[in-house]
Amino acid sequence: MSEEKIFTRIEKLFDVGLLSDTRVLIVGCGSGGGNLALQLAMSGIRNFTLIDKDALELENVIRHVCGRKFIGKKKVDAVEEVLLDRNPAINVRKLDVDIMHYDNLEFEIKNHTVIALATDNEPSRYLVNEICVRNKIPFVVARVFTRGIGGEVFSYRPSLGGCLACLERILERTEYRHGIREIDLVSEKERELMYGMEISEIKDSPGLNVDISFITAFHARFLLDAIAATLPERPKYMQPIPDNYIIWGNRPTHPFTKHFQIQRITLDPQEGCQVCSKEKK
Ligand SMILES: [Zn+2]
Repeated sequence: MSEEKIFTRIEKLFDVGLLSDTRVLIVGCGSGGGNLALQLAMSGIRNFTLIDKDALELENVIRHVCGRKFIGKKKVDAVEEVLLDRNPAINVRKLDVDIMHYDNLEFEIKNHTVIALATDNEPSRYLVNEICVRNKIPFVVARVFTRGIGGEVFSYRPSLGGCLACLERILERTEYRHGIREIDLVSEKERELMYGMEISEIKDSPGLNVDISFITAFHARFLLDAIAATLPERPKYMQPIPDNYIIWGNRPTHPFTKHFQIQRITLDPQEGCQVCSKEKK
C-alpha cells in the first residue's frame, strides 16, 4: 500500500508532500483533540505529538473519535491507533503527562510547527499561551460552550495578532464576554436551576458530538491556516483566513439569536498586555 495512493482524492487540492516536515503538537486528546488529530491526519499531516494523561472511559465513547474497543486504554494510545489506521506512514510521539506538571513542556512546544490546544481548562490554556508567545510558536485553541450551544476558536499568530491574554482584555470590554459568561461561567446554583444537573456533569457536558464537530471543523481549518503560513509556498487551496478569532453559535440560545451564527474578530496585540507586550521588541 503506497502512501501516494492514500492521498489520491485530495492530491488535486494541494501537494501533500509540502506537509512532510510539519510537526503538530496536540495538547489534550479528548473529544476535541482526538477528532482534530484525525482531521489533520486526513489532510496529510504526518508528524504528531499527542499529550494526554487520561484513559478512555465508557462515557467518553459517545463523543470521542475512539469507540468501545478502546475503553481502558490511554487516550494517547487509542488516538495513535486511529491515526495509524488512516495512514500507517504517520509518526506519533506520545506524552502521557499532565502539562501543568511537566518540566519539558517548553522544550516540546519549541520543537513543533504549530500547537493544537484542546484542553478543557483555563490554566493549561494560559500556560501554553505564555510559552508560545515567548517562543513565537503559533497555536490554535478552541472551546465548546456549555451544552454545545456554540463555541469559539482563537488563533495566535506570532508578530501578526494578539495573544490569548489580549483576547481576555478585549472580551472584558465587549458584549461578547457577557454572552459567554452567561452560558459558560454561571454559578453552580444557576446551572442546577437551568439544567437540573450537577456541576461536574455540566462541566463535562458540552453537547452532542455533532455540535462539537462544528467547532472541531473550525479548529482544524484554523490549524491548517497556521500551518500554511509556515510553508515556503502557500497552497492556493489554503487561502489565508483574515480573522484570528471567531465565535460560533449552533442554535438560537442566548446570546445567539439564530442557528449557525458567526461573529468574526481580528484581534490586534493589546497595549499593555501582560504576556505579549513585554515580549515585543
Ligand atoms: Zn497579548
